[in-house]
Amino acid sequence: MQVDTTNDAVRHPTLYKASGDLVVSAADGSATHLFRVHALILAEQSPVFAGMLSLPTTGGADMQTYDGAPIVHLPDNAKDVTALLEAIYTPGYPILKNARTFASDVYGLMSIATKYEVDSICVAISARLKEQWPATRTDFMLAREDRHRYAVGPFFCGGPRSPEPASAIRLATDFNIPEVLAAAYYELATHDIIEGDLWARDSSSPRWDLLRPEELLRYYQGKHRLAKEFFEAVDVFDSVYDSDVECETVFDDFEDDGEFTDSSACRKALAKARYEWDRAPPSLSVVRFRLTDADPMHTLLKIYEGESKPGKLCTPCAGAFQSHCVKTMEALWDALPAIFSLKDHPFYTPVPRARRGQH
Ligand SMILES: [Zn+2]
Repeated sequence: MQVDTTNDAVRHPTLYKASGDLVVSAADGSATHLFRVHALILAEQSPVFAGMLSLPTTGGADMQTYDGAPIVHLPDNAKDVTALLEAIYTPGYPILKNARTFASDVYGLMSIATKYEVDSICVAISARLKEQWPATRTDFMLAREDRHRYAVGPFFCGGPRSPEPASAIRLATDFNIPEVLAAAYYELATHDIIEGDLWARDSSSPRWDLLRPEELLRYYQGKHRLAKEFFEAVDVFDSVYDSDVECETVFDDFEDDGEFTDSSACRKALAKARYEWDRAPPSLSVVRFRLTDADPMHTLLKIYEGESKPGKLCTPCAGAFQSHCVKTMEALWDALPAIFSLKDHPFYTPVPRARRGQH
């Protein structure tokens, strides 16, 4: 049977291939979009298409045709079908390239690729997401360090931006990629939701609109717990004296300046670093920044090797101090699943089919 869909049908400019032997149609609102592709390629990429195309009716006399080829009407959104066929026909998946927006760009593609079981696409998206959001302690710490190398206070001055965390959480949650959640929730918690709502939706605001109520709760609770960790991070300055380190500096070698009463050079240096860190910089905006954008991992990195590092310490004290900083950072990473209640996370809920309106 010949179908006349020519009235309101749009042939895709690049995916209506002259050599194709199968026409695929999908609607987008009232418009019908037509694609002409190769049945063999579709069947090879997707067991679901393979099954559909091998049905006896496909080759039967009542098979619908269009422009001389069998036509299959898909119930999916034309935009998602376009993304799927583009991904199948374009080597290298260009849709994965935009680092900042990748997770929201691919949501529709991930939905339809999951539905039609195009594993190669699902695997590529999952791998890209994992590449962006470190799943190990070492990678996470390296990534935080890298991010802050380009940051001055709350402002970026060039360099790589973190990928957008809310769309990463959406993608990871709906398509069961739990490895990335700790790092993505951590990044989300360093943003302030009020800021995102009030100061327009600039490109650095997370996509709060993508999150569900239980995820926003996880964000608020995690942010609160991180702020506590932030204020406790300063304890590393005292850590040297809680350990059994044999300080090599001479006691009572310094005049008492009225501010510090500690008697060894190392103890003085640590007390001074802590004092300066506690006080500086004493502006209201920074206090607000500390409270709302608490990033204890960054704080620890600053104390460990950045501008808040204590002055010269003897070798045993420096060693004890550094190892305590590293242990504190490691403990913080290990605590992230608890901080963000990820153990209650419904990791293993069934993957939804072609969810709509989420992005
Ligand atoms: Zn010492």
